[in-house]
Amino acid sequence: MPYDYSLVEEMHPRLKAARKLVESGGVRREGEQAWVRGSQVEHRVRSGRCTCPWFAAHQGERGPCKHVLAVQLLEEGEDEPTGA
Ligand SMILES: [Zn+2]
Repeated sequence: MPYDYSLVEEMHPRLKAARKLVESGGVRREGEQAWVRGSQVEHRVRSGRCTCPWFAAHQGERGPCKHVLAVQLLEEGEDEPTGA
C-alpha cells in the first residue's frame, strides 16, 4: 500500500528535500554508512547521524537532517517491492 507523504511534506520541508535527493540519485550506500550529496561536499550518514554542519549544530534536537532522512527513505524503498 503506497504511503502518502504529502501531509508530512507540508510539515517537514526537510523531508521534501530528502525525497529530491533520493530521486536525483544523491544517496550512495556504502556498507553500513551512506554518502549524501550536499551543496559542496558529500556528507556521511551512519546510525542516524550526519556529518553536515546543520546536524552538528543541532545534534538531532530538531530531528534528523535531510541527509539522514534521505538515507531512511532509500532504505524504506528497498524494503518494498518495486512496481507495486
Ligand atoms: Zn546532514
